[in-house]
Formats: sequence, structure tokens, C-alpha cells
Amino acid sequence: MFGPIYAKPGSSKKNLTGSWRTGLKPKFLQKECVGCNLCLIICPEVCVVGEEKNTFQTNYDYCKGCGNCAEICPKQDIVMIEE
Ligand code: SF4
Ligand code: SF4
Repeated sequence: MFGPIYAKPGSSKKNLTGSWRTGLKPKFLQKECVGCNLCLIICPEVCVVGEEKNTFQTNYDYCKGCGNCAEICPKQDIVMIEE
């Protein structure tokens, strides 16, 4: 019988998921942003930071390049670019 496998608490910070990107990364243009927070909420790595409009950005150490943030941004203020 197998039980669940738990990672060591706090170990996720050491897991630099940015190395998983496969060629594309988001660029936060900070021009049309209205501060809706959708990019921050949808990011699976919780690596988007920002507080008010035109301040949002990501931490590339953890950004996997999934594109969710660019997809959901209502102002098209995030674009996916080549590494
Ligand atoms: S591309 Fe994905 S992982 Fe990177 S900031 Fe956007 S939602 Fe987060
Ligand atoms: S989803 Fe777009 S408009 Fe909303 S906070 Fe993020 S960058 Fe700004």
C-alpha cells in the first residue's frame, strides 16, 4: 500500500520553475493595465506581483511561460515573447 508523498515544507521556493519554460515568456507592457489582478490570480506559479495599474510584472525565476496571464488580460497588456 502506498501513501501520499509530501514535499518538504517550503521546498517549492527552491524549485525554480522558470527553467521549465520552452521558449516563450510573458512581457508585461505596463501601458494599458487597469490593475484588475486577473493575471495575478490566474498564475499557477503565483509569481505575478503588482499592486496598482501598470505595476504588474512576473518573477522569471518561477514563471513557467504557460501564457495564462497573457490570455486572460482584458487589455492585452501582456504579450508572449521569445526568450
Ligand atoms: S506565463 Fe504563466 S507562469 Fe508565467 S507569469 Fe504568466 S501565468 Fe504565471
Ligand atoms: S490582467 Fe492585464 S489589466 Fe489586469 S492587472 Fe494584469 S496586466 Fe493589468
